[in-house]
Amino acid sequence: MGIYRQTVVDLEAPPEEAAARGEHGRRWLEAEGFIRPVPWRGDVAYLAGPQWREAVDLVSWDWRARLKGLEEEPCDALRVVVGRTVFYAGQGDAPSALCPHCRSALPDWPREALDAWYATGAADLDCPACARRARLAEWNWTDDYFAFAHLGFEFDDWPPLHPRFTEAFGRALGHRIRLVQGKF
Ligand SMILES: [Zn+2]
Repeated sequence: MGIYRQTVVDLEAPPEEAAARGEHGRRWLEAEGFIRPVPWRGDVAYLAGPQWREAVDLVSWDWRARLKGLEEEPCDALRVVVGRTVFYAGQGDAPSALCPHCRSALPDWPREALDAWYATGAADLDCPACARRARLAEWNWTDDYFAFAHLGFEFDDWPPLHPRFTEAFGRALGHRIRLVQGKF
């Protein structure tokens, strides 16, 4: 049985601020009661907090949770991912890049831009449809398959995060976010 991972990705945190922004986000989650600190192997792990149900959509989840035999409360610790990362949705169809200006799908796989991003953490991508250029991180992807960013919050085997929660979390971070989700 794989895991169902949902990552709230901060699309705008600059590399040099990612660690501090990650800590800010974690403190907000704790203050809101979505996570709680638990001593773990001489450190601290952050498990589902007393208000975790307010962060998720249990209506669409219950039958799946029963199907998988999961306990109701998510039991995996929150992971804050800091540093240049390609967040992706795991299994699924090969995604297309969508221009953030005109929403046209890129006809070809943007290999050069991806290579540049892997190497340097920054890359631009030209849209052949509208001839405009945007940073790779600003491009959208079908099914929100990718996010190229420096900060993400991973929720493993939580029920589907509620849009109300992800919007509030984005406001707390002060940045645009993208929810990247899938099975691994
Ligand atoms: Zn375009």
